Amino acid sequence: MPPVPPDALRLDAVSKSFRLDDGSSVTALDGIDLTVREGEFLAVLGPSGCGKSTVLRLIAGLEEASSGKVQIEGRAPADLAAAHRLGVAFQDHALLPWLSVAQNVALPYKVAGQPVDQARVAELLALVGLDKFRDARPSQLSGGMRQRASIARALILDPDVLLLDEPFGALDAVTRRHMNVELQRIWSARTLTTLLVTHSVDEALFLADRIIVMTGRPGRILREVQVPFPRPRDPAVLRTSEFHALVDELTLALEPQEAAQ
Ligand code: ADP
Ligand code: MG
Repeated sequence: MPPVPPDALRLDAVSKSFRLDDGSSVTALDGIDLTVREGEFLAVLGPSGCGKSTVLRLIAGLEEASSGKVQIEGRAPADLAAAHRLGVAFQDHALLPWLSVAQNVALPYKVAGQPVDQARVAELLALVGLDKFRDARPSQLSGGMRQRASIARALILDPDVLLLDEPFGALDAVTRRHMNVELQRIWSARTLTTLLVTHSVDEALFLADRIIVMTGRPGRILREVQVPFPRPRDPAVLRTSEFHALVDELTLALEPQEAAQ
């Protein structure tokens, strides 16, 4: 292993504008430069509408940059998506209600035109604690269980890059904490470059190697914080004074920048 892992992900001067129905356009992102190392866990914080989901959608190959370049492992995002090396759990990628939990988790095999590896499906269901619910429909699950099923689905083809857009937003605090611990365990078990968009400063600090804070209109990277806590992280780290100091610092960075310009 080289001492410094290569860049898995690179955004160079990426801007993205959307044309609106009235003919005007909105600049969602302006000049984003970002590199993420192979196996790194990056969390993205920022106010609503600052372009966090747009960053993830560009990396997933679901949107094209208006200018600048997005590369994953030196290739265009669409190449990686086509090779099924990307795992995606977005708010708008809901489970299909007419399929069982196991069928939902196995869906990427169908999309990739590959035979379903039932042992792997069972392994992923066990990993996210849903082995007893394999035949249940999504409507029979709690919100937290549905999120776990989405994450199992995102991981089923053993992706190189995992993109999570506010995956735990709808969960109560206790379930969310539990999911954070689970996600850390899943991430630690393999080399998995992960981008997590979250509204929770605690969640970002507990999970990430590095955090970027974005600011809106147009979306830019305001600051970057290297998270100092050793791994594996125990939830007890949340109660340390160093953790609280970083929560304060990041919360302040997230406050509206009045009179900034
Ligand atoms: P966030 O995820 O940080 O809340 P988004 O990336 O969803 O922000 O959106 C950033 C900005 O781009 C917002 O102003 C949003 O309204 C705009 N936007 C995003 N997607 C579209 C779209 N498909 N068409 C028009 N505007 C869009
Ligand atoms: Mg969003």
